[in-house]
Amino acid sequence: MKLLNEICPVCGMKAQTGVPTEEHHKMFFHFCSEQCRETFIARPSLYSTKVGKVRKATLKRRTISLSETLEHEITDLLIPYLMAMMGVKEVTVEGNKLHITYDLLQVTESQIEKALVEAGLQLGGDWLERLRRGWAHSSEEVELDNLSTPRYHHSPPLA
Ligand SMILES: [Zn+2]
Repeated sequence: MKLLNEICPVCGMKAQTGVPTEEHHKMFFHFCSEQCRETFIARPSLYSTKVGKVRKATLKRRTISLSETLEHEITDLLIPYLMAMMGVKEVTVEGNKLHITYDLLQVTESQIEKALVEAGLQLGGDWLERLRRGWAHSSEEVELDNLSTPRYHHSPPLA
């Protein structure tokens, strides 16, 4: 087989040369971004089987609390910064609340939180919000694990 996949297996966009290649079961995968590469490494079997095909998005809508209300100038920078992450579909800010919609197959809440912290923001720290974040992290991990476990599918024949 000479056909190398030039499509990022995680998001379906064009792979870029600057991102290191990964091997999985003697197949080589190329990525559009370091974020997609990390996502792939976490669960290669979830992304290595349907390369180039349309994968159903697993959309999540979450509200992440920040430690303080954001100034408009910061909001104006923050929204495009988050939208540039692979898998982020929609971001709105309301006071100290960040409403974000994303495809779990491409990005997780913990990756989004990491990006927020890297941007110099502090997450809201009340116990309820910490509890919610912890719950979101573990339920997303479980959901992705379930999706990457091979199962028998009784799918209808393709039209
Ligand atoms: Zn990608």
